[in-house]
Amino acid sequence: EPEYANLAEVFAATVARDPDATIVRYFDFDMSVAQLDAASDAVAAGLTDHGIVKGDRVALYLQNIPQFLIAMIGVFKVGAAIVTINPMNRQRELAYQLKDSGAKALVCLQSLYDVAAEVVPDTDVALVLTTSELRYQTRNDQRVLGKSVDVATGGSDLEEFIERYRGVAPPAPQIDPEDLAGLCYTSGTTGEPKGAMLLHRNLIFAAQNKVMWNQITPTDAVYAVAPFFHLTGLINHLFVGMYAGIPIAMTFRFDPIVGAEEVRDKRLTLTTGPITIFIAWLNNSSVKREHLASMRQIASGGAPVPPQIVADFEEKFGKYIQIGYGMTESSAGTHTVPIGMRAPIDPASNAISVGLPVFNTMARVIDDQGVPLPPGVVGQLQVEGPGVIAGYWQLPEATAEAMPRPRCINTGDIGMMDEDGWFYIVDRMKDMISASGFKVWPREVEDVLYSHPAVREAAVVGVPDDYRGETVKAVVSLAEGKTATAAEIQEFCKAQMAVYKYPRFVEIVDELPKNASGKILRRELRLT
Ligand code: ATP
Ligand code: MG
Repeated sequence: EPEYANLAEVFAATVARDPDATIVRYFDFDMSVAQLDAASDAVAAGLTDHGIVKGDRVALYLQNIPQFLIAMIGVFKVGAAIVTINPMNRQRELAYQLKDSGAKALVCLQSLYDVAAEVVPDTDVALVLTTSELRYQTRNDQRVLGKSVDVATGGSDLEEFIERYRGVAPPAPQIDPEDLAGLCYTSGTTGEPKGAMLLHRNLIFAAQNKVMWNQITPTDAVYAVAPFFHLTGLINHLFVGMYAGIPIAMTFRFDPIVGAEEVRDKRLTLTTGPITIFIAWLNNSSVKREHLASMRQIASGGAPVPPQIVADFEEKFGKYIQIGYGMTESSAGTHTVPIGMRAPIDPASNAISVGLPVFNTMARVIDDQGVPLPPGVVGQLQVEGPGVIAGYWQLPEATAEAMPRPRCINTGDIGMMDEDGWFYIVDRMKDMISASGFKVWPREVEDVLYSHPAVREAAVVGVPDDYRGETVKAVVSLAEGKTATAAEIQEFCKAQMAVYKYPRFVEIVDELPKNASGKILRRELRLT
């Protein structure tokens, strides 16, 4: 495989290989590699003209639309770093991430301009470029986009900016593998999001690794379901597309029916997303087996995958969900189940494996002192390899705490490796419940809940208890057309687990709280 110094070179190689290949598909709009190259050159020239130079940060506050990719490549060509901001964030979170990152420019969805305008005067942002989801959209799919209004409320228009600088030579800075390419914030599942410092070499490795490990070829096409601001979408959709020169089909945001129709109509072959997406397909009676027929890889990571969901999904769609594990701090996947293989199930705990470590990545299970543990013993998972970030942005203490040495990170996840080298995630260290002094891992109880026919989604948390210290509580939502009482669900669990583990409280709700990356937020359930 060729060695690249930076991400601008990666894209230049794709341009040289096949400039006419389609790289963006957004409803009825298609964009070629050459068109993307020209538009991103204009972005780079315009940013340069506005004083953005190598080493600066440019924030992207966008949904999954073509402009994300155009702006991102423009930023890379300048040698600046992207700061990806969740479009669900509002003033408080946006202000925090703009100030924390010191971004000098912001590319923002037109409909979020009002939010940005309140915050920007207090930051270093000197240039705001706005754009609309309708710009490249010709079919006006109201089901996805809602009644979006494309009002010009302020900022400079990104498309006018591109036209103004079209043909102007972009800068040609020297960009090294160790330079910062992106700041991505962790999901904030356990606390405040932290800025992960992603270097060019981290992201090149992540893209290369995904393409090679999954044997991606020019005949593949990506269904970009995971949000681009999160590492999962950034790597598995944008970087894979950019590296391999294959189509990236975007739909603004996830809708089960629109997504399934896009997969069918555009014959898409790959996707990666949080398990909640696949649960939505499973539970939607309008989404049929034929919709997903062209898919050769449906990968899920970022949160625990209940074995029951994998089984039900295979039964309904004939597709085996490929599980993977990773974190923002590792530039996405460190473990996956290789294509064509099935994840083993640990007979002792019934947990399904998250796979084997990917190329050049070492993983081990360690004790409290950092000493590696033998196979079969549960401890903290540590990963080491080319994907591991340089540290947390402006958080030297958090960096030192999580990273015993460069390229090595303690994940904060509890896991186990079996005799054959397969890894299993027990749960997050912070989510352990101590019930009468016994350790209860929520994921184990959740896996049992998911095997109840009426349960759609489940989350288990510890709640304070005068007698036991903490006790186990389950919050579940029910599948379409199914009924069950809290008492029935409790009995179902009680019959299948040690007495200290079964949920003393079961609450049935319409929807579980989730963050924008689709993860169920146990943290919020603890508060209620
Ligand atoms: P924060 O670090 O801000 O609390 P977060 O950890 O959810 O948020 P991410 O980097 O998006 O932020 O997620 C990584 C975490 O997701 C992992 O540390 C792990 O806890 C969980 N995870 C990822 N894949 C899996 C998997 N296959 N099984 C179980 N858990 C997983
Ligand atoms: Mg984390």
